[in-house]
Amino acid sequence: MSPTAVPAARDRLRIAIQKSGRLSDPARALLASCGLSWRESRDRLFCYGETLPVDLLLVRDDDIPGLLADGVCDYGIVGRNVLDEQAALRAGEGRAQVSKEVRALGFGGCRLDIAVPEAWEWEGPQQLQGRRIATSYPGLLAKWLAEHEVEASVVMLSGSVEIAPRLGQADLICDLVSSGGTLLANQLKPVATIMRSEAVLAGPVQPFADIRGELAQMLLRRLDGVLRLKDSRLLLFQAQRDEVPGLLEMLPDAEQPTVLQVDGADTLALQALCHGAMTWQRLEDLKRAGARGLMVLPVERMLA
Ligand code: ATP
Ligand code: ZN
Repeated sequence: MSPTAVPAARDRLRIAIQKSGRLSDPARALLASCGLSWRESRDRLFCYGETLPVDLLLVRDDDIPGLLADGVCDYGIVGRNVLDEQAALRAGEGRAQVSKEVRALGFGGCRLDIAVPEAWEWEGPQQLQGRRIATSYPGLLAKWLAEHEVEASVVMLSGSVEIAPRLGQADLICDLVSSGGTLLANQLKPVATIMRSEAVLAGPVQPFADIRGELAQMLLRRLDGVLRLKDSRLLLFQAQRDEVPGLLEMLPDAEQPTVLQVDGADTLALQALCHGAMTWQRLEDLKRAGARGLMVLPVERMLA
């Protein structure tokens, strides 16, 4: 048997993602769009990186902060709610932080909300004084209660938090909410938001001292390219020189456009990367303001 289960130096990067759940498919798709591909192991817990030395570990999302802390994996894709909860617990125990949010990834959006029985007339956090609150997020809840100088008892539940008030286990809950449908079905209503969450790339606080540093830089460069291109389009058009300033004002979501001179001095060709939706309405407005030959193209890759 190998004397060291977790070697200090490695020459491959290891990313933990959720095995099955809300974040697993989008996390894989995002990494695949960065040019990664894998060969899956028989037990489907480990995927060996083929195009690059970047492997995947398929785990429960709650285990990701711990795997990062133990150095078993180098990065993880996890909800900010899970990452910050672990950070709050560590901070509460006076332990140093070993991982941090490296990038927000734009999927898995939800809120950690306080929700009370529908019949309650909400008057503010002070109303929670002395109450019993069921949650899977004791660290984040305790921090919020302390900030609002409320003393309440926290009932830790690992699942089915929303039925706790009906079962008499708690008076109210603190839980993740996206559409609010689950709350409604349990005669609860959200009254305060403790945090807004989405999937994030979590990584180490300290930089890598081996080849993983270069792999990580490449991964982040590609990831930034992919994230930047989300909902982006390349807009091409021509216009008379004196109409260009007005047209650019209509494109506040465009990055610094490239302007080329076409025939003589007066016709200019412009190309700009736009980050907002390029609807027919916008194109018609631009045409009315003097743009000609408008073209909207998808952008496949970008490397800054
Ligand atoms: P696992 O088996 O990995 O522990 P899980 O049941 O804890 O799975 P999911 O329900 O798949 O996890 O949720 C994963 C993450 O998805 C959450 O931590 C959160 O960041 C995000 N999320 C987005 N919307 C919601 C929602 N409505 N309820 C719960 N989580 C949500
Ligand atoms: Zn989980």
